[in-house]
Amino acid sequence: MRFQNAALDIDLAAICENYRRLGAANPGAEAAAVVKCDAYGLGVGAVSTALFQAVGCRAFFVAYAEEGVILRRVLGPDAAINVFNGPFAGAVEIFRDNNLTPALNSFEQAALWAAEMPGADCILHVDTGMHRLGLDEADAARSASNRALNITMVMSHLACASEPSNPMNEAQHRAFSRIAALFPGARKSLASSGGALLSPDFAFDQVRIGVGLYGVNPLDAGANPLRPAATLTAPVVNAHEAKAGQSVGYGATHRFSRDTRLATVLLGYGDGYPRAASNRGAAFLGGALCPIVGRVSMDLIVLDVSALETPPAVGDRAEFFGPNLPIETAAEACGTIGYELLTGIGGLARPRPGLGGRVLRRYVFDGAPVHPEFAGA
Ligand SMILES: *Cc1c(COP(=O)(O)O)cnc(C)c1O
Repeated sequence: MRFQNAALDIDLAAICENYRRLGAANPGAEAAAVVKCDAYGLGVGAVSTALFQAVGCRAFFVAYAEEGVILRRVLGPDAAINVFNGPFAGAVEIFRDNNLTPALNSFEQAALWAAEMPGADCILHVDTGMHRLGLDEADAARSASNRALNITMVMSHLACASEPSNPMNEAQHRAFSRIAALFPGARKSLASSGGALLSPDFAFDQVRIGVGLYGVNPLDAGANPLRPAATLTAPVVNAHEAKAGQSVGYGATHRFSRDTRLATVLLGYGDGYPRAASNRGAAFLGGALCPIVGRVSMDLIVLDVSALETPPAVGDRAEFFGPNLPIETAAEACGTIGYELLTGIGGLARPRPGLGGRVLRRYVFDGAPVHPEFAGA
């Protein structure tokens, strides 16, 4: 008997709907899609093509220039492709040859771009308090007088956008408004997904939306205003029973106090599902949440299914996040956030298992299957 793989099902219609919702929340601002890290593990080819074709998205962000090259091939000439990490010495041609616009994240990076690509479009990233990337106010002022820089947009990044009432948001807004005023001819962008839900005040000319597109709640608390777009399921490979006093898994970390029905499923940390979910996480199977018992192993997880009236059969699929188990809840049980769970699983998922991972990546659009060529990038 052949067992099916774990699968990550991705609803491109939900991603398009989330693009519309986040755009509608910020009228007057352009919504740019952040598709770095292979579209948060959901596949940059399919996600970007859907956004470009179905909802008219024309502005995209990736982290690396190499990601931008792939995206340029997928989307053709009519999309703006921006690169968060910016150029490095000896690697400027890749921007020129693929019409990629860099974010310039330091005074040195701005000087490099001005010297090697005078007059070419660029985004100036200014630091408003996160202290990760970006020029401080003094360096921004020095760059403002550099005639070789054609700064089309000034951007910054919010450190606490997932907490709407955090005073840091207002402080960064004030700092950004002040620094951006040094560049009267440039557009302005401050908000990511969280900021796009704070208030249209934070939107300026462009919001850069990533995680919200993929249906993960960008805010730490409250109901998710977005439509979940990814579902992770894994098939039951063994249904069996343990007796009272027996244990399960590596290290025998869980011992049963009574006879317990178990289901072993084909998913593990080798597929990107965190080992931190050992004895803490759960999966939705047979109409109920079934706790993970014992340690998550590389290929396998054991679920306690004694709450189910009908025991699961081999081949039944357990949902690890999706419509019945929000990814935020699943991530919390692993001590992490939806972003990390999604990129961890999705980074190993492939349209055909074996190509870098064992999780099968499958696309639908409003329930209809998507042509494999569209989905296969
Ligand atoms: C990743 C990233 C984003 C997108 O953030 P989300 O929270 O996923 O919407 C926006 N801006 C910058 C600078 C980023 O690095």
